[in-house]
Amino acid sequence: MNKPPVISAFLPPRRILMGPGPSDVYPQVLAAQAKPTVGHLDPLFIGMMDELKQLLQYAFQTENDMTLAVSAPGSAGMETCFVNLLQPGDTVIVCRNGVFGERMRQNVERCGASAIVVDNAWGEPVSPEQVEDALKAHPQAKYLAFVHAETSTGALSDAKTLCALAQQYSCLSIVDAVTSLGGVELKVDEWGIDAIYSGSQKCLSCVPGLSPVSFSAKAVARIKARTRPVQSWFLDQSLVMSYWGGGAKRSYHHTAPVNALYALHESLRQLASEGLEQSWQRHRDMHQLLKHGLNELGLKFVVAEPYRLPQLNSVYIPQGVDDAAVRKQLLEQYNLEIGAGLGDLAGKAWRIGLMGYGARRENIALCLKALADVLT
Ligand code: PLP
Repeated sequence: MNKPPVISAFLPPRRILMGPGPSDVYPQVLAAQAKPTVGHLDPLFIGMMDELKQLLQYAFQTENDMTLAVSAPGSAGMETCFVNLLQPGDTVIVCRNGVFGERMRQNVERCGASAIVVDNAWGEPVSPEQVEDALKAHPQAKYLAFVHAETSTGALSDAKTLCALAQQYSCLSIVDAVTSLGGVELKVDEWGIDAIYSGSQKCLSCVPGLSPVSFSAKAVARIKARTRPVQSWFLDQSLVMSYWGGGAKRSYHHTAPVNALYALHESLRQLASEGLEQSWQRHRDMHQLLKHGLNELGLKFVVAEPYRLPQLNSVYIPQGVDDAAVRKQLLEQYNLEIGAGLGDLAGKAWRIGLMGYGARRENIALCLKALADVLT
């Protein structure tokens, strides 16, 4: 018999999370998650799930019936969209202007489909002109996939124009809204988005580990018309809907993460009570404040002003500054987390998040003061 390990309770410090996510969680969300666990088929819980769906529909600005939260992080939301819609042999136009466009490409290939990649430089938005050229050159394409808010660089792409192009060329659109939902304008029905996924840990300021998704009627029809079953049992939406789509008659699919769903319900309630437009405006206002302070410190943005995400500010690390040492000092002396650069920007940029509950004046003041102290 092995001896039981003697381990103390884990007591995390209260950090200020200003990286690329997870973001600062609303205190009300942390409190909601600590409420007593009930059964996931308990009638009271089912009532909460109905409200959760309404709140998700509001956040996405959609009437889509197939709107739910996948019980896993944003990458599972991404995979849910690809594995349910794609079949081997399909052609997909995939836009790649950072890490997550490349992750989409890998999903496409793992589904046995072919990816036609439209590349744009890191820090630039997806080019609608290049996308249109690809759509013209590949009339067999069935889907257009792109990242609305590329977290690896801080670039915002024009989802409305890209989805209009998808429709014009008879493609369904698959949109990554992991970092955009709640932080910048996003209108699923008005823009004609067919499949969209997000994450709980960015501008929703919920705990990590859930992925809101939504599918249009056209996407649902495509899923229903599949000639072969979805290769993933867990992510197969036709099975998941026995729980999420069943209303009062929900039946067991997998054990829902009950307390995490309380947390999502509360974070979406916070978003609804602030109002989506007000939340988008607050992100813009807080970005202006941060931008002003970063400019005063002489830090230069990676992304050109018109395409900059308010919620993800990438700035170049000044010459001669030790990236890891600065981030360590911020964490240890100020309890402040900012993000390292990712992929092509590793070691070259910092990513400063202003997401959801984290997009507040006091966070910006702390961040600017701490950066000024450690850089001078
Ligand atoms: N897509 C984007 C744009 C992201 O920023 C992330 C995570 O940072 C993901 C997908 C993957 O989400 P997760 O890390 O929750 O799996």
